[in-house]
Amino acid sequence: MTFEELRGIDSQYVVQSYGRNSIAIDHGQGAVLYGPDGKEYIDFASGIGVLSVGTAHPKWTAAVSEQAGKLGHISNLYYSEPYVRLAEKLCTRSGMAAAFFGNSGAEANEGIIKLARKHSWEKYGEGRGTIITLNRSFHGRTITTLAATGQDVFHKYFFPFTEGFRRADPNIDSVQQAAGHDVCAVLVELVQGEGGVLPLDPEFVDDLVKLCADRDWLFLVDEVQTGIGRTGSLFCFQQYGVQPDAASFAKGIAGGLPMGGFLVNERCRKVLGPGDHASTFGGNPVSAAAACAVLDILDDETVAQVKEKGRYLREAIEAMDLPCLGGTRGMGLMIGVEVKDGSSNKELCARLNQAGLLSLTAGLGLRFLPPLTITREEMDKGLTILKATLS
Ligand SMILES: *Cc1c(COP(=O)(O)O)cnc(C)c1O
Repeated sequence: MTFEELRGIDSQYVVQSYGRNSIAIDHGQGAVLYGPDGKEYIDFASGIGVLSVGTAHPKWTAAVSEQAGKLGHISNLYYSEPYVRLAEKLCTRSGMAAAFFGNSGAEANEGIIKLARKHSWEKYGEGRGTIITLNRSFHGRTITTLAATGQDVFHKYFFPFTEGFRRADPNIDSVQQAAGHDVCAVLVELVQGEGGVLPLDPEFVDDLVKLCADRDWLFLVDEVQTGIGRTGSLFCFQQYGVQPDAASFAKGIAGGLPMGGFLVNERCRKVLGPGDHASTFGGNPVSAAAACAVLDILDDETVAQVKEKGRYLREAIEAMDLPCLGGTRGMGLMIGVEVKDGSSNKELCARLNQAGLLSLTAGLGLRFLPPLTITREEMDKGLTILKATLS
C-alpha cells in the first residue's frame, strides 16, 4: 500500500482525532525506523516514551512470540506466571510492596485516585475525597484524569467533569493554600512531561512529603512517563529519594504492548480488596511477558547509562547553538529543549519529522524521548539531522 492509499483509507474510515504527521512507519530495528518506501527515520520519540527498549529488540520479540504461542489471555480470575513474575521484579527493584495491572496511563491514575479515596473513607468517612494536583500537569484523557490534569486547554466540551480535584502551583505555599479538611491526597509528576519537561524542585518535593505526613494525605506519583528507567533510575522517585504511597506507570513498561498499572507501599497494600478494583485485560500474559523482558533488558547498568546518554545529547544540542533553540532541561532521556520566541515548536517538530528525526513537542518546547537502549551511533545520526535541519 502506498502512503497516499493508506492516508485515503484512514481519512475515510478512522475518527480523525489525531493531528498526525504525514509519515507512515512500517518496521524498524533499535532506534532506526523505516517507512513503507524504505525511508529511514531516527527515533527520538519512542512512540511517546513507549519503545523503552527500541523496536524489535530480539529478547522482547522472543518473549512476546513465545508467550503468544502459549497463552494469550486468561483473566484475573485465575493465576498465571508472567504477571506474578513482573510484580515481583517491579517491587524488588522499586522498594514498593505490591502491584496492580491495567492497560493504560489514564487507567493507572484512575486506580490510584480510587485507592486514595478509599484509604481516606475507611479512616475518616465521607467528605474527604479531594486530591490536589499541580498546574501544567497531565494525567490522562478519561473524564476523571482530565479533571485531575492542571491545564485549562483540556477542560472544554466534556462537562460535567469529575469533582474532587483542586489545583496548586509547584511550590509549598500554593499547596498549603489549597489544603483543607476535604483533602485526602496530592498527585504529582516529578518531571512534568506534556507540560514541557519540567522537573519539580527537590526541596519542594521534600516539603510536600512532609506536608502529606502532617496532614495524613497520601503522596501519589504519576510515573506514566518518568517510570521504567526513563529518567535514569527505574522510577524517578528513587532519584528524588522519596517513597510515594502509590505510583502509576504505563508508557515504557511493556516496550510497546499496552500495559499500565500502579505500585503501592506497605501502608497501602491492603486498601483495595476483592471487588474494589479490576480490569479485564489487566496483567495480560503477553504484555506481562513483554514487560518482564523489558525489565531484564533494562538492568541496573543499562538504566544507569540513561543518565550519561541524556547528558551526551543535551551537551551536543547546546553546543550546536541553533538560532531557534534555547537551553535544554529534563532528567535522563526525558529531554526538553526550549524554542525561542519567533519560532513555533510544532513547526520545528514537523520539519524534524519530515527530515527523518522523529521528535515530539511538550509545552512550548521540543521534547526528545529516545529508546533507552539507543546507541551512540544512533544518537549521532539523530544529532546530525537536527543540526542540518534547524541550522
Ligand atoms: C501519557 C501520560 C498519561 C496518559 O497515559 P495513557 O496511556 O495515554 O492513558 C498519564 N500521565 C502522564 C504523566 C503521561 O505522560
